[in-house]
Amino acid sequence: MLAGCTPWPEDFAARYRAAGIWRGLTVPEVLEQTIAAVPDKVALIDGERALTYMELGQAIDQLACAFVRRGLKPLDRVVFQLGNSADLVVAFFALLKAGAIPVLALPAHRHSEIGHFLAHTEATAYLIPAEVRGFDYREMARDLAREFPALRHVFVDGEPAEGQADLRMLMAERTEARVADEMLAARKPPADEVALMLLSGGTTAIPKMIPRTHDDYAYNFTQCATATGVTGDTVFLAVLPMAHNFTLACPGTLGVLAAGGMAVIAPATNPETVFPLIERHRVTMVCTAVPLVTSWLNSDVPERHDLSSLDVLMNGGAKLVPELRRRIEERFGCRFMESFGTGEGLLNNTRYDDPEELRFHSSGRPISAEDELRVVDLLGEEVPDGTPGELQVRGPYTIRGYYKAPEANAAAFTPDGFYRMGDVVKRLDGYLYVEGRMKDLVNRGGEKISCEEVENHILAHPSVAEACVVAMPDKVYGEKACAFIITRLGAHLDFDGLIEFMAARKIAKFKLPERLEIVEAFPISPAGKILRRELRARIAAKLEREGQAC
Ligand code: AMP
Repeated sequence: MLAGCTPWPEDFAARYRAAGIWRGLTVPEVLEQTIAAVPDKVALIDGERALTYMELGQAIDQLACAFVRRGLKPLDRVVFQLGNSADLVVAFFALLKAGAIPVLALPAHRHSEIGHFLAHTEATAYLIPAEVRGFDYREMARDLAREFPALRHVFVDGEPAEGQADLRMLMAERTEARVADEMLAARKPPADEVALMLLSGGTTAIPKMIPRTHDDYAYNFTQCATATGVTGDTVFLAVLPMAHNFTLACPGTLGVLAAGGMAVIAPATNPETVFPLIERHRVTMVCTAVPLVTSWLNSDVPERHDLSSLDVLMNGGAKLVPELRRRIEERFGCRFMESFGTGEGLLNNTRYDDPEELRFHSSGRPISAEDELRVVDLLGEEVPDGTPGELQVRGPYTIRGYYKAPEANAAAFTPDGFYRMGDVVKRLDGYLYVEGRMKDLVNRGGEKISCEEVENHILAHPSVAEACVVAMPDKVYGEKACAFIITRLGAHLDFDGLIEFMAARKIAKFKLPERLEIVEAFPISPAGKILRRELRARIAAKLEREGQAC
């Protein structure tokens, strides 16, 4: 296994293999089974472009060979930041077939985050779109290439800048099928090798990388597809960022392709884009997040379209309130499914046939019988069912450690290998109910903001003496970030000044605080720690008074 990763102990691995959970297949091999079974079926639709399974497989192999010829080596890390497109799917699989490890960044990440991914993974390549909504990724890549000499290749999906390569030219290179087969067979990793790295929506100052193996990730998306009723008849709409774990593999594009269904790629998330696509392609499954589905519910666009094909609408990333779950079923004429999961592994879903009470109120139950869950109190003792406690999990697709992060691992995993999710849940009859969390982050409608990471950016401001970032309630996003700041003696700071300063630090926009509270002092516990809970309560009460809270 790649150095810096923690394998499952051998007895667990043997058990998962014997039970047929780890099938010894790489992620591309799972797709190849579908290609062999239904070669002429349409796998992907991107605008007017439709790719059959056979065409998808060929495009992947051709690009994989081009990557090998460019010098990508087995286990090379490749920061992957493509936007939603068929090219994203082709390039993702092509990297895996070339034996490289994509590190899945989000379109919103900027210099600060990408620089960290490049440094931490020592990536040799970086895949970007040319420009999206006025942001030029090529310029960012050029700056980063100067800083990181290990970065040998920048591949651009679009017109490249000087010194960068055109991904579409690579895609157009032809390799004879027999030669390609030989070339790629030599690159096939063992199934217990790391396939990709996801980014943790965690709490530390620097985002952690989640190494997922072929065995574990293949099980993640095939098992999630089974649990959520995905079949060859599923038409899936990919609308959130496709390189995020939820849209990629929970069950996501990968789960749908493994089952022989079809994935339709939405170029934007607004109702004017989404609902015509549902009608046109007879979409059956849409996976979305709190702010998005709230905006769809507040729009009159859905009424103007035939949504009779829509069978399942799934929410993930943050809890959706029961009232909105009910409205989704009523307005869109579909089943609602809640997905409560994590990039580190564990996935819970409500099931299609669950009674209303569970569909509207619970956070679902684990997708696998092999998921071992514990709900514990502050001393680590298991609590009885119905009592809230911290959720800990171990299982065949929950990692045993982050990539090259011994300190974070010591805090995030118990000595017997359980991952501390940091969520406070209640368990009843096998179903979970998320009640709160112990970790310091802001869950902005599914996008996680590490308080510590943002505080460090704020602390760099010359007027700031101390900073504490907490979640404040928001009607649409559930939570947004509020920065409590103590300024230096005599210094002045206003909201616009803070935001301008932080934006200049080139961080993802969703992490910027959305409110500033200047204070004289922070509430402190007897042990000298900032009482974040008190600050959260203070801003919630203030918003309530202002009539802005939920
Ligand atoms: P990530 O790994 O970035 O997907 O974040 C995982 C975290 O998101 C979980 O530990 C929860 O805190 C939160 N989360 C995800 N889905 C839900 C949900 N349906 N309800 C409540 N919290 C959720």
